[in-house]
Amino acid sequence: MTNKKFDTTRYCEKCYDLNGMVPTERNGARALMACPDCQQEKRQQRRAWMNAVRTEEMFQEYSLTTLNQNISPSMFRAWVKANRFCEEWLPGCGKGVIFTGSYGLGKTHLAVGMMRELLMERGARTGRYLNERRHLQGLRDSYDDDSLERESSVLYQAISPEVLVFDEVGTGNITEWRQDKLADVLDTRLNRKLTTIITTNFAFTEDGFNALGRRVGGLCFSRLRQMCLHVEIEGHDYRQNGGQASMTNM
Ligand SMILES: [Zn+2]
Repeated sequence: MTNKKFDTTRYCEKCYDLNGMVPTERNGARALMACPDCQQEKRQQRRAWMNAVRTEEMFQEYSLTTLNQNISPSMFRAWVKANRFCEEWLPGCGKGVIFTGSYGLGKTHLAVGMMRELLMERGARTGRYLNERRHLQGLRDSYDDDSLERESSVLYQAISPEVLVFDEVGTGNITEWRQDKLADVLDTRLNRKLTTIITTNFAFTEDGFNALGRRVGGLCFSRLRQMCLHVEIEGHDYRQNGGQASMTNM
């Protein structure tokens, strides 16, 4: 176990972070046992992580160390930036990341892996994975009289977690309603200094063909620029090559 995270987020009073061990007595002899406070902390972190990805079972195995072995040079650069972001992250810093690039490059894996790192190693308390299109659809469905979920509880999923992975932003139909709802989420998260990790298949530009700004609207786009470090991943869908990125694509 590294002590890095304790330097920035937490110091254990019980074991003084001596590798998470505390002295004890066993059969009259001195011994070491795992620090109960640190063990409790680990259990809480694990619960927060499982809760964050509870709707996507396959994500439970995702982490920054489980990315495809044959990642492209561009993906490697993005991975380095993701790691550095996590190392420098502090609770309440309000900073986020937006990953752009075409389908199937592993953006979601990288974003979810970052959330895991922040929850398990960096002191973030709550996280959530949401697909943007499905989330907004869920919000719309909550208006129906026979809906099981209320609007406020759907909204809460996006605005409350300390770390939110918002996947595939901008993929739904462009409507004013969608842009307004997205702006509400981003505004709230910005004001509360929460961390939002976004993926999108659109270009991180305001105008032009394939521009994210055109999909989400000028207001949302300017919020994203305020909140997020932009990391672009180049290349083609590695899943088309049997899960292996071809070096000639990069
Ligand atoms: Zn301890």
